[in-house]
Amino acid sequence: MKQEGKKANSKKDEYFQIEKPYTLSQAIVEADRCLLCYDPLCSQGCPAEVEPGRFIKKLRLRNLKGAFKVIKDNNILGGICGLVCPVDKLCEEKCLASGIDRVINIGKLQRFLVEYGWDIGFNPITKEKDKNVNVAVIGSGPAGLTCAAELAKKGYNVTIFEKNEKLGGILRYGIPPFKLNDDFLDREIEDVLNLGVKVKTNYEFKDKGSIENLLKDSFKAIFVSTGLTNAYRLKIPGSDSKDVFTYQDFLWQINSDKVEEIADKIKNKNVAIIGGGSVAMDVATTCKLLNANNVYCISLESMEDLPADKADLHKAIDHYVIIKPQSQIKEITTKDGKVIGVKGNEVKLLKKGDFSPSNIKEILNSEFSFNVDFVIFAIGSGVDPKIKELLPSVTFDDKGYIKVDKESLETSVKGIFAGGEVVSGPSLAVNAVRDGKRGAKSIINYLNK
Ligand SMILES: Cc1cc2nc3c(=O)[nH]c(=O)nc-3n(C[C@H](O)[C@H](O)[C@H](O)COP(=O)(O)OP(=O)(O)OC[C@H]3O[C@@H](n4cnc5c(N)ncnc54)[C@H](O)[C@@H]3O)c2cc1C
Ligand code: SF4
Repeated sequence: MKQEGKKANSKKDEYFQIEKPYTLSQAIVEADRCLLCYDPLCSQGCPAEVEPGRFIKKLRLRNLKGAFKVIKDNNILGGICGLVCPVDKLCEEKCLASGIDRVINIGKLQRFLVEYGWDIGFNPITKEKDKNVNVAVIGSGPAGLTCAAELAKKGYNVTIFEKNEKLGGILRYGIPPFKLNDDFLDREIEDVLNLGVKVKTNYEFKDKGSIENLLKDSFKAIFVSTGLTNAYRLKIPGSDSKDVFTYQDFLWQINSDKVEEIADKIKNKNVAIIGGGSVAMDVATTCKLLNANNVYCISLESMEDLPADKADLHKAIDHYVIIKPQSQIKEITTKDGKVIGVKGNEVKLLKKGDFSPSNIKEILNSEFSFNVDFVIFAIGSGVDPKIKELLPSVTFDDKGYIKVDKESLETSVKGIFAGGEVVSGPSLAVNAVRDGKRGAKSIINYLNK
C-alpha cells in the first residue's frame, strides 16, 4: 500500500526544507577521510547496529551498492536515522578521526547512500518463503515499522494496526518538517510495505482487552509499540485558554494539512514555549520558520544543563529564539479569553533533574513577564492510560510504562512483546529501531519454540 499525499502538503515546502544532501563527490571526499579502523568504534556507538565502519569502508572502495545494502540490511529506516539521529552522542561521538581534524559525518553519508540506492532503483532487501504465521504490530512508529519489516523479511504475515490515518508515528506527526519531510518518510515506509506488510490505519482498539484478544484470534504473537501520546500541560492559571497548546497539538497541525492556518495565526506574534528539551527547541524553530516575532523558550534548567541536544539548541539560537533558563512560569495572563502574556520568576534547582516543587528554590525579586499571544507546553509526555485497559493482563510500572524483560522485550504475558517509548519513555528514533529489531528476533525465537 503506497502512502498517499506525498505532495498534498507541498505548502509545507514553502516554510520548511530539510538539510541538503551530499553530492556523490562530496560523499566520496568525506568517506576518504575515514581511518579504516580495525575495530571501528563508530559501529559500537550505534544502538541499531548499522555498522557505519563497514558501510563507510565499502563507500571508500567505491562499492556504493554494497554500502547501501549494509545500511538497509541493518536498519530498514536507515535513511531517516541518517537525517534525525543526534550523531554527536552516538556513532560520531566515538569516531577517532576527531583526533586528526574532525569526525566523519556518518549521518550524512548514511542518508546519501540510502537516497543513492533509491535513485538507481536498487533493492537489496530479500524476503524468505511465506511461513503462514500471523503476527500483529500495534503502532507504526519506528519501533513498529522496524519490527514489522524484520518479521516480514523472515516470511511472517505481519499486520500493523495504527490509530492514525497515516503510518510513521512521531516521525510523521511529531518531528518537524525541517528535519524530516513527507517525501523522505513515505519513500522509506514504502521499503517496509514492499515486504508485504499489511496495514490497518484509522484502527482503534476500543474494548477492554482488545489488543490482548488478538492472540485468541489468528495472531500468534503481538508487538506493542504505541509510544507516548499523552502530552503534559501545567495546571496554572490561564492554561486552559484556547491559545495554549501542547507540543503534540501544535506539531500535529504543522505536520498535517493545517500548516497555512497555523502560519497565518502566528505570523508576527509572540510565542512562549515552556520546556528546555529538544522538543521545545524544535517547536521554537518551527515557530520562527513560520515567521513568528519573539519566541521564548522558558525552562527550569540552567543554560549548561538544558536537556536539549546541542544541534537542536544551536538551530533554535541561530533562528533568534530567546532562551530563558532557570525560570518558571506561574501564570498565563488572558484578556477576554485571549492569551496576552506569561508571568514567572527565576529559580534554582537544588538537585539537577528533579522538578518536584520542594527542589525548586525561587530567587527573590526575580519576577518577569513577557507579552505573548500563544503558549506551547513542551514538558514531556506519557503513555495513554487507555493502553492499560487494552492490555489488562500486562504489567505496567509505576510510571505507566510497559514492563518487559530487558533482553527479549517480552511482557508479563506470553506472546506479547513491547518496545519503543511505551517501554522506555522519551527516547530516540534509533533506539526504537533497536527495539523493533530486538522484538522481532525474540518473537521469532518464541514462535520457533
Ligand atoms: C517533536 C519531536 C522531535 C523529535 N526529534 C527527534 C530527532 O530529531 N531524532 C530522534 O532520534 N528522535 C527524535 N524524537 C523522538 C522519536 O521520534 C521517538 O523516540 C520515536 O518516534 C519513538 O518511536 P515509537 O515507535 O516508540 O513510538 P511513536 O513514534 O510514538 O509511534 C507510536 C505509534 O503508535 C500509535 N498508537 C498509539 N496508540 C495506539 C493504539 N491504541 N492503537 C493503534 N496505534 C496506536 C500512534 O498513533 C503512533 O503512530 C522526537 C520526538 C518528538 C516528539
Ligand atoms: S543509525 Fe544513527 S547512530 Fe546508527 S550509524 Fe546511523 S546515524 Fe549513526
